[in-house]
Amino acid sequence: MIPILDSKRQYAAIGEEVEKEVLEVLRSGQYILGKHNKALEQELADFIGVKNTVCLNSGTDALHLALRALDIGAGDEVISTAFTFVATAEAIGIVGAKPVFVDINADTFNIDPAKIENAITPKTKAIIPVHLYGQPADMDMILDIAKRHNLYVIEDACQAIGALYKGKMVGSLGDIGCFSFYPTKNLGAMGDGGLLTTNSDMIKDRVIALRNHGGAIRYHHDEIGVNSRLDEVQAAILRVKLKHINEWNKKRRENAYRYNELFAKCSDIVTPKELDDTYCVYHQYTVKIPNRDNIHKMLQEKGIGAMLYYPIPLHMQKVHEYLGMGKGSLPITEKNTEVVISLPMFPELTKEEQQTVADTLIQCVEESKALV
Ligand SMILES: *Cc1c(COP(=O)(O)O)cnc(C)c1O
Repeated sequence: MIPILDSKRQYAAIGEEVEKEVLEVLRSGQYILGKHNKALEQELADFIGVKNTVCLNSGTDALHLALRALDIGAGDEVISTAFTFVATAEAIGIVGAKPVFVDINADTFNIDPAKIENAITPKTKAIIPVHLYGQPADMDMILDIAKRHNLYVIEDACQAIGALYKGKMVGSLGDIGCFSFYPTKNLGAMGDGGLLTTNSDMIKDRVIALRNHGGAIRYHHDEIGVNSRLDEVQAAILRVKLKHINEWNKKRRENAYRYNELFAKCSDIVTPKELDDTYCVYHQYTVKIPNRDNIHKMLQEKGIGAMLYYPIPLHMQKVHEYLGMGKGSLPITEKNTEVVISLPMFPELTKEEQQTVADTLIQCVEESKALV
């Protein structure tokens, strides 16, 4: 069995240090908003190249509180993609705004900037590009459109910590960046966690208040907030892991390029494309294949942990029925949900395992072709 992700291998390498740090937190009696939160915020600000960071309880909260901090809510529209994890659009719904889904670029899986302007109305307040699978969205065009139409840009960088767009880290390009430390992400906690990044002090101060019941001073509450703090145990774990993120991302890239080579001989398998001048961090390695659903079953039977990210586009989810966007409204998004499949991808994946994944997938593609 080759899993899509094996977190135990990472733990085997860093477990000793993690356990030492966690034990120290447990013995310290300081469990919420302590020294590790403070230190992690500074270390992540330095790493991402942004003035301010705020640790939160999840990536979903980062997106939600980003919108709150920009006073986006009922009556407003936010442009984003339907080819993403549900949390991107969920955050828009949580604040009472309306998600406006724009189709994607078939090569990058990210929002197609050429289609954004058509979706802008007087109600539009922001654009949320997603750096899906660790590949930066086409930020120059998105930032240019946002500037001309006076819109905010919130980057959903939950899958892309450490990815570069023209030499700058994602999460430092828009007004706000949102990251997730969900355990399966490139930088994962051992529980939930998230981060908001911004160069604006005003936004930072607002989010610091919002994450702690809407008040910066204890027992003084200025607005309705939430409880979205990162606990010290998770912050301590993330500090240990942050030291390795560059090396882990580098290994993911090497694995991606090895897959590309292994699949080069099979023209039915479309390997991922990268935008020029980007450093993609391959949260997922996602290819396009014919007869995807059949092949997905065959791979599962043969012990290859392939997954479908994401099988149903967000505009076709029940929760978004009210938008009235039926089948056919986002043709490229819909087509891609039918052909994508993500293969085992993590830093510790071995060459031998990659060879097995590639041989098996190629064999399945040939077999399924013979069937039709
Ligand atoms: C994981 C993820 C989120 C949500 O992050 P959580 O920490 O699980 O709340 C949001 N957007 C994208 C693209 C994600 O992959």
